[in-house]
Amino acid sequence: MRFSEFHDIEALESELYTCTMCGFCKQVCPVFVDEGWDTAAPRGRMTLAYGLLSGQLDVDDSVLDRLYQCTQCHDCARKCPSRAACPDVVLAGRREMVNRGHITTRQATLVDNVHRTGNIFGDPEAGVPSRQGTLPVFIGCQYISRPNSVKKIIRLLETLGVDPLVMDESCCGFPLRILGFDEAEKEQQLRLREQFPMDDREILTLCPSCLKQLREVYGQSSMHILQMLDRTLDTIPVMTPVQTRVTYHDPCDLSRGAGIMDEPRRLLAHMGADIVEMKHHHDTSRCCGGGGGILTWDEALSLRMSVSRIEEARRTGAEMLVTACPTCEQNLKRGAQAEAEASGHPAMPVRHIMDLLIRAVR
Ligand code: SF4
Ligand code: SF4
Repeated sequence: MRFSEFHDIEALESELYTCTMCGFCKQVCPVFVDEGWDTAAPRGRMTLAYGLLSGQLDVDDSVLDRLYQCTQCHDCARKCPSRAACPDVVLAGRREMVNRGHITTRQATLVDNVHRTGNIFGDPEAGVPSRQGTLPVFIGCQYISRPNSVKKIIRLLETLGVDPLVMDESCCGFPLRILGFDEAEKEQQLRLREQFPMDDREILTLCPSCLKQLREVYGQSSMHILQMLDRTLDTIPVMTPVQTRVTYHDPCDLSRGAGIMDEPRRLLAHMGADIVEMKHHHDTSRCCGGGGGILTWDEALSLRMSVSRIEEARRTGAEMLVTACPTCEQNLKRGAQAEAEASGHPAMPVRHIMDLLIRAVR
C-alpha cells in the first residue's frame, strides 16, 4: 500500500471496515505492549484516525499521542488477517493534524532544518565526498553526519571492485513523510530530483528508510548495500574474523519493508560470527523504538521500547547486538546504556554491521 493513498475519507472509511476487531494486531504492536490501552493498539489508532478525519472526534493531547506514538514498524500490517493498512491510516491522520496546525516545536525544527540545509540536522556544512563513478550511491542524512564512516564505506566498495558515483544530495524526504508534512515532503522531492539523477540506473542506498522512500515515492530502482554485498559474498576477504556470538536486530524498513533479512545474516556468518536469534526476528522483529518519528514526540516511550529490545537480546546469551540501520544503532545504544544503568551489568555492545565488515576486511 502506497503512502499516497487515504487522502480521501471514503478510502479511509472502507479501510476501517476491513478491520474485524479480531485484535491479532495488539500482541505485535510495541506501543500496545508497553502501554496496554486499546487506543494504543493498531485498531484503536485506526478508529481514532477515522474519527478525526470524519469530524466525529475532537483533537486533544491523548488523540495526538496515539497518532504520533506509532513507530511505523508495520508489524500490525504483517499480522492482520484482513490486510488492514493501519500504518497508512495513521499517516493520513498525521497529515490531517499537520493541516490543522497541530505541530510540535521539534517537528517544526526538523522540517525547517531540511528546508534550510537539506538535512535533518540543520547542518549547513554537512556534505558528501563527491566522486565520479558508474554506480550512483545515495548516502542519506544519517550517514552525511558520519563522514568518516562514509569514506570507509566508499573505500570498501572500491576495494571490492565497485565504482561508486557520489554526488551532491539532500534528504530523501522520508522523515517529513512519516510525520505527515505532505507539502514540505513534496517540495523536498522536487529539490532532490533536481540534484540527484533519477534515471534507469539502479541506486545503491546505505539506509533502509532511504531505500523505502526511493522505491515507494520516487519509483526508483534501488538496492540496499547489503543486497549488493550478498551477491559477491565469496569475493569479500575476511582478514580479521568476528569471532563473537552475536544477535541481529532486523530494522523494520529493511525486513518487513524490503524483505532483506537473510543477507545480513549470511554476511555475519561470512565474517565468522556465531548468530543466535532473539524471540522476535526476521519479519517478526520488534521495533527498536526509534521509528516513525517517535523521537520528536515521546522520547521516554522510545527509550522503554529500546530497553525492552536490549533485554530480549540479553536473553539470547549474545555478546553483541548487531543491526544495519543508523537510527536503530543510535536508539539501541541509548537502550543499552539505560538497561546497563538499571541492571548494573556492563552495557550490551551495539554495532552497525558495516562497521564490523570494515574492520573484518582490514
Ligand atoms: S489484526 Fe487487523 S482486523 Fe484484527 S483488529 Fe487488528 S487491524 Fe483489525
Ligand atoms: S505500525 Fe507498529 S507501532 Fe504503529 S500501530 Fe502498527 S504495530 Fe503499532
